[in-house]
Amino acid sequence: MFKILFSLGGALAVAGIVCYAAAFGSRDSEAFISIASGLFSLGALIIALGFYLQARKLRSEVLPRQQQSSNKRTDRLCSSCNREPARVFCRVHQLRLCLTCLDTHDDGRNCLYVPGNRAAAAYK
Ligand SMILES: [Zn+2]
Ligand SMILES: [Zn+2]
Repeated sequence: MFKILFSLGGALAVAGIVCYAAAFGSRDSEAFISIASGLFSLGALIIALGFYLQARKLRSEVLPRQQQSSNKRTDRLCSSCNREPARVFCRVHQLRLCLTCLDTHDDGRNCLYVPGNRAAAAYK
């Protein structure tokens, strides 16, 4: 789709340049020259349109993915420090924990841990 736009615009621009060069020598070629410059600017416009459409398509492809990943990240932050991504979930205390906070949280007897990515489905 974009290749067609690019090649069409390129062909028009080249045709414009060629017409311009061909008409340059002769005297009564004002109409021809204006047609040639018209062709050239139309070609440039079509190329620019191709770039614009392509950029828009790329943006719409990239942006949702970025938003998704950032949502996930905020979903699974450690509940005690709120900075690091949570790695485990304590089922007894209903807490998401990063590895640093896991050390301070763990009391060695009561806590029951579930891996963070498995817990995210069960506990939201
Ligand atoms: Zn933490
Ligand atoms: Zn616990």
